[in-house]
Amino acid sequence: MDVDAGRGAALGGALPTQPGDLPLARRLRSLLSWPTADADPVTHLIRTHRGIHPGTEASVLRRAYTIAENMHRGQFRKSGEPYITHPLAVAQICAELGMDATTLVAALLHDTVEDTRYTLQALAEDFGGEVAHLVDGVTKFDKAFYGKAAEAETTRKMIVAAGKDVRVLIIKLADRLHNMRTLGVRSAASRERIARKTLEVLVPLCDRLGIQTLKRDLDDVVLLHLEPEAHARIARFVHDRPGWNAYLDDVVAKAKVALRRSRVDAHVSPRPRHLYSIWKDTVARGHSVPFDLPRIVIVVDGPATDCYAALGAVHGLWRPVPGRFKDFIASPKNNLYRSLHTTVCGPKDRTVEVLIRTEEMHRAAEYGIAADFRFPRPAGTAAARAEQLDWLRRVLDWEQEAPDPAQFLESLRCDLAEAQIQVLVEGRQVVLPAGATPVDVAYELGPNRGDHCLAARINGRLAPLSSELEEGDVVEIFTESDAETGFEADVAPRGPRREWLGFVKSPHAQMQINRWFADHTEPGISIADKVRLGRATIGLALRKHDRGLANDLPLLRLSEELGYPDLETLLVAVFDRALEPDAVVLQLIDLVDHRQ
Ligand code: MN
Repeated sequence: MDVDAGRGAALGGALPTQPGDLPLARRLRSLLSWPTADADPVTHLIRTHRGIHPGTEASVLRRAYTIAENMHRGQFRKSGEPYITHPLAVAQICAELGMDATTLVAALLHDTVEDTRYTLQALAEDFGGEVAHLVDGVTKFDKAFYGKAAEAETTRKMIVAAGKDVRVLIIKLADRLHNMRTLGVRSAASRERIARKTLEVLVPLCDRLGIQTLKRDLDDVVLLHLEPEAHARIARFVHDRPGWNAYLDDVVAKAKVALRRSRVDAHVSPRPRHLYSIWKDTVARGHSVPFDLPRIVIVVDGPATDCYAALGAVHGLWRPVPGRFKDFIASPKNNLYRSLHTTVCGPKDRTVEVLIRTEEMHRAAEYGIAADFRFPRPAGTAAARAEQLDWLRRVLDWEQEAPDPAQFLESLRCDLAEAQIQVLVEGRQVVLPAGATPVDVAYELGPNRGDHCLAARINGRLAPLSSELEEGDVVEIFTESDAETGFEADVAPRGPRREWLGFVKSPHAQMQINRWFADHTEPGISIADKVRLGRATIGLALRKHDRGLANDLPLLRLSEELGYPDLETLLVAVFDRALEPDAVVLQLIDLVDHRQ
């Protein structure tokens, strides 16, 4: 939060909320660059919102703006602008995404509780519980800039709040986007710090929610702060490419003809890459000049099968580059992105990338989770959204497992790390972090399968549990209960092995293993201690019968009879209460009395 209340209330007090006022106010307004001189600040927001959701009642937006403006009056951004410009800009970003009025109200008020005398209770009374929940969810996260523990704790709170209502995350992303856009007045060091944090957590969160339109903006502003020179170089390169547009127009026109011949109704348009994406490719390929291939998108009018018809038309027209075809319709990415990708040898032998998708896929690709707000559907058809939130639900599962917020944040970062692979197990597609192992897969199938997994086959071959899986591997997991089917182990491990913690990659598996050990070990008690204590327990129980043990022989015989590999294991079982000491003692007495 960057309020500079020292600038005094004089300017803030003069900020108009009504049209038709003083020249000073008019000048101020033009400084704030409202689109039309005669409109009050909130009109542009309402116009954007109504452009997507015609007929919405806008009075609540005005009411929210008036309260926010009143509360923040006298506060200023580091840039010197009245503070209200920030929540208004955040609401504008949400409106352009197509979010509902509730989100916009919460966006307008998102900093009031943290930075003004407006309380959460007053907010709930004025605007209802939903808005209060949204504001509360982002309020806490904003403290992330104050120290490490606070950051972890507030991230955790934001994720929990988002579990109840995903709009919390959307407001947070819009908030960060506007803050990043206005970082210019800060020191280089703090710009870099904030940009890195954004790149680490918020950008991947945005990607998980599938909101590409927002992610592109975040990506580019991150690049601007982290690599200002690269940003400028690539922006110049994109702006100034002779013949580029003419070439793309030619590709689009030729593709249209081919599609029409194949009787596929579709919209074809150039699909420019954003600066960050060009930069990443350029760096990854080690190019010295910006690397960017011409790219088009084909959005078919019909069903998914039309995408394959369009693909046929494109491949019939231009020779496909081998190995570059990807079917994200049959195998959607984990953020539910679906499309066909191909690369072809286009006109003048230049390489061209082609994306093919349906209208529905296009909406999902652009707006992700926000698509459900932008294009409201009848109840019961929002299956995609539920699936998309599956990921969030899983994160919330570890939230409950993670002992402290720092570990939670670490797991979240790890899970958000960009590289991921998909493998097939039992006919199911599972998305895992790159470098994941069969143990990760086993835990994906359920804690029980994980805890008891014994062996794995990768693409039909038996492989160590620590093997790193690769994209597309087909994995089979065998657990203790499958042992009869041929995977006999001399020592069936009861539960996971500690060394698994050294190679599992997914936070889910890590936490399940840690949980198992937490449930199954007394802190600070070694096996030797357990053996000693188990023996003492039996000694005590024997004394109740006025008996004692002269030597270990009866115990050894009993452990054999009960099927334990050795005496120590029996004593540990007594300590763990897997065996009742009283029952053991009765059996011992029986054994001694009848066989001596
Ligand atoms: Mn804010």
